[in-house]
Amino acid sequence: MADITVSLKGGESAQIAAGATVGDAIRSLLSNRQRKQTVAALMNGEIVDFATTLDTSTELEPIQIGSAQALEVLRHSTAHLMAHAVRDLFGDDVKVAIGPAIDNGYYYDFKRSEPFTPEDFEKIEARMEELVRAALPFEKSVLSETEALSRFKAGGEPFKVELIEDLGEEVVSLYRVGEFTDLCRGPHLPDTSFIKAFKLLRVAGAYWRGDEKRDVLQRIYGTSFFDKKELKKHLNALAEAKKRDHRKLGRELQLFTIGDEIGPGLILWQPRGAQLRRLIEDYWKDEHCRHGYELLYTPHIARQDLWKTSGHLDFYQENMYSPMAIDDVEYQLKPMNCPFHIGVYASERRSYREFPIRWCELGTVYRYERAGALHGLMRVRGFTQDDAHIFCRPDQLEEEIFHILDLNLHILRTFGFTEYDVYLSTRPEKSVGTDENWEKATSALTMALTKKQLDYEIDPGEGVFYGPKIDIKIKDQLGRSWQCSTIQVDFNLPERFQMEYVGADNAMHQPIMIHRALMGSLERFIGVLIEHYAGLFPLWFAPVQARILNITDAQLEYCEEVCSQLQKAGVRVEKDLRNEKLNYKIREAQHKKIPYMLIIGDQEKETGTVTVRLSSGENLPPMKVDEFARKIAAEVVEGRGY
Ligand SMILES: [Zn+2]
Ligand SMILES: [Zn+2]
Repeated sequence: MADITVSLKGGESAQIAAGATVGDAIRSLLSNRQRKQTVAALMNGEIVDFATTLDTSTELEPIQIGSAQALEVLRHSTAHLMAHAVRDLFGDDVKVAIGPAIDNGYYYDFKRSEPFTPEDFEKIEARMEELVRAALPFEKSVLSETEALSRFKAGGEPFKVELIEDLGEEVVSLYRVGEFTDLCRGPHLPDTSFIKAFKLLRVAGAYWRGDEKRDVLQRIYGTSFFDKKELKKHLNALAEAKKRDHRKLGRELQLFTIGDEIGPGLILWQPRGAQLRRLIEDYWKDEHCRHGYELLYTPHIARQDLWKTSGHLDFYQENMYSPMAIDDVEYQLKPMNCPFHIGVYASERRSYREFPIRWCELGTVYRYERAGALHGLMRVRGFTQDDAHIFCRPDQLEEEIFHILDLNLHILRTFGFTEYDVYLSTRPEKSVGTDENWEKATSALTMALTKKQLDYEIDPGEGVFYGPKIDIKIKDQLGRSWQCSTIQVDFNLPERFQMEYVGADNAMHQPIMIHRALMGSLERFIGVLIEHYAGLFPLWFAPVQARILNITDAQLEYCEEVCSQLQKAGVRVEKDLRNEKLNYKIREAQHKKIPYMLIIGDQEKETGTVTVRLSSGENLPPMKVDEFARKIAAEVVEGRGY
């Protein structure tokens, strides 16, 4: 066969025979040492593995250990390895489905009559170790659809057969590692010896193709790394995350509850959680009023016609709940607050002089989520958006975006989030609005980000159909990212609702509308706060700031006095006056993550003081009750900002 030229990006090139593999090319182009670091290559923007054949001259960019792409190839390859081990151990009792790489790991779905147990995990891991040591190559073959179908039919693999049928391609690719052949597009590692560290994590139920009417499969989750130390670090972080799980802490700290009798995805806030939420809401409202916003309240339902005009019935219906008839007119629960704010706008004739109009609302919305997707406070069916809409003139857009960014970051910082990932999403293929408007809006967003000196990434084509947007993800203490703020310019709703204002030229114009949520939703944000702080909230929004603990019944009356004095001074205080050992009561207060314990014995009673104990275990010298109240007030001001 004729020779082709394969060159390395920015480096050497070599002549190899057409039909040779990427692996052959890499072996002739890279030194041994570099090759050991290379797991795949980038060719024409696509990741290809060593098993890929080359028919024409091309350029390759090695993908090396240390990159996110290499990690993804590793994890997907580990999924194959795990499926191999599972097949070896459980034979025909197991049918294999799919096994992709996911964030932080991979999974593989199996159909098996018996559940996988922790003992099974050990056996699977041991078998995987053996396969790793054998340094088995991932070998690719290309088969016609008919050949592939008969192969998997003969092998008794119904899921693979269905996948091939759905693909409807003339040819499909198969990968063999050791004794296990899988239908797969790749890419994979050169061989299994690259898998240096792995761990099976858990098993969960999953429907075949996510369809609740299809087979229930067992999904085994695992993770893998190129380095044992990295795996250990990751497992430690997982253990820490488990301890901080907001569902577990929510129960232990009595913040919220979700019950079947109420309905899945619907939150009941318990008194402490409600207090926490009130403190966050009060701060949010105060900050907005200080930054030129006005507060709105709007209803939970509206006539169906409103949702027709807004376009929600056309574009968002699958997320909305069924209509209800009131006096023979159809109404629907709101999935968003926007049309209501437009209703307030339309209640009066607007002039350019009023702009910018900044309206905010803690607006509770209802959206359908699949039962399987619901997750504690993070994914729910009814939630309160910390919503705002800004109406302005085109010449005010950039300044308004800057103003929003400024307020958002200020509030996020006050809550203790100082690291962000910022994304600018530009025009998608399907969109409304003129080129000119899109360009103006996108450049206004860019200018505001630059002026705010924020590093950002561009997500090309990921804007909403009605306008470009900025998304801000916050990083928590475990380094995990959470989507929070979103700022979206909208050309669509002002058009649909024929919004207008009188301009300086006395003619009618269409305002620009900006949608903005800062926390996203209170539910989700509180979920993130619980995990970020592991339940030990900063004093300014801790639902309980102090707990009074008496030593004996002789101090009961004095404890009541202290409690009411502190409550009057605005301290969120509670008491534990049970006839229990002091140490026991201290441990319980610590367990409830209460920042201050006020210990009261005879001496405190006689001197009109309290002994302050921190949750860390440190004791402060006894202080007068009003002195303690002042200390709390000062700390609140320090944390909250005023
Ligand atoms: Zn694969
Ligand atoms: Zn909106």
